[in-house]
Amino acid sequence: MRLDIISIFPEYFAPLDVSLIGKARERGTLDVRVHQLRDWAYDVHRTVDDTPYGGGPGMVMKPEVWGEAIDAVIGASAVPGGARGGGHVQGSDEDEGRDGGEARATPQASAPGSVLPQPVAPGADAPGTVEPGTVEPGTVEPAGVEPGTGASATVASGTPVLPRMIVPTPSGRPFSQELAQELAQEPWLLFACGRYEGIDSRVMEDYSGRLRVDEVSIGDYVLAGGEVAVLVMVEAIGRLLPGVLGNAQSVVDDSFAPGSMENLVEGPVYTKPPVWRGHEVPAVLLSGHHGNVARWRRDEAIRRTVRNRPELAAALDPAKLDKHDRKLLDELSFRVRRKDVAN
Ligand code: SAH
Repeated sequence: MRLDIISIFPEYFAPLDVSLIGKARERGTLDVRVHQLRDWAYDVHRTVDDTPYGGGPGMVMKPEVWGEAIDAVIGASAVPGGARGGGHVQGSDEDEGRDGGEARATPQASAPGSVLPQPVAPGADAPGTVEPGTVEPGTVEPAGVEPGTGASATVASGTPVLPRMIVPTPSGRPFSQELAQELAQEPWLLFACGRYEGIDSRVMEDYSGRLRVDEVSIGDYVLAGGEVAVLVMVEAIGRLLPGVLGNAQSVVDDSFAPGSMENLVEGPVYTKPPVWRGHEVPAVLLSGHHGNVARWRRDEAIRRTVRNRPELAAALDPAKLDKHDRKLLDELSFRVRRKDVAN
């Protein structure tokens, strides 16, 4: 899967070098490219924001800069007339710093016939840096994509496709395990990280005509920028890619996983020793009886869901509850659409 991330803080993405996601990148399952938005600003101060129309506090991100950046990242295939964008890969040397007004080169991102991806120096170790580009803008390698699993996953190598664009915003549709699973099927995702009061709405409007654009919220609270939201989404999506987790079964057993864990959170987990500070591991887990262990785990998942997430428990699908589930829910005085489960 290819992931492009546009942000004014590329250094936020250093954690993507670590752990499961870092390993997935090393193996080539994930091809992450982080881009500095300011490189597509055109004034000496590399301005990306301006005052909001209609007044009010805060600043809004300028549409022109975003347009240039996205055009360049998605490449020729999306630009009318076939202009080819430069693959613009950035390291962590950029930050919010308006560096004393020093002029910087503006990329020739969407000039027709312009540059191919600029290779990153081998060994460049800046967070957010990617391997020297081997994929031209507007193309995607099917590496890590199982044929037939995604909307565009059947493209042959080198065939131009377009990314699905994700814009983090508290006003978006909620991010969920279901959406993570859906996005994990895509061969190419582009994340546009807002700051300030967000991105001028015409950017999403404009690209909606060419790409699938989703505005997505990671929860009912307000962050300072989209970077952390993107890290959350990339981690949730990345761990679902084939081969990223050691044990594929763990994805199926996770909280919220579509299937038997739909609308359920996972119950408590234990490891050795069997007694710690006088607290014993529940005996059933030491019994070696797989059926009983599975039943106990499901009971605990239901108990915990009712306790911590009653709104999820209320959404449990009666058709997926067995007699034992229903009895337990009754004991917990939680009726799941009672008339549906009467028999
Ligand atoms: N004024 C806006 C909030 C702007 S917060 C509003 O009330 O809706 C600045 C940026 O942080 C947003 O553009 C978005 O990119 C990011 N952000 C903040 N909270 C977020 C959330 N819950 N989910 C996803 N992105 C979020």
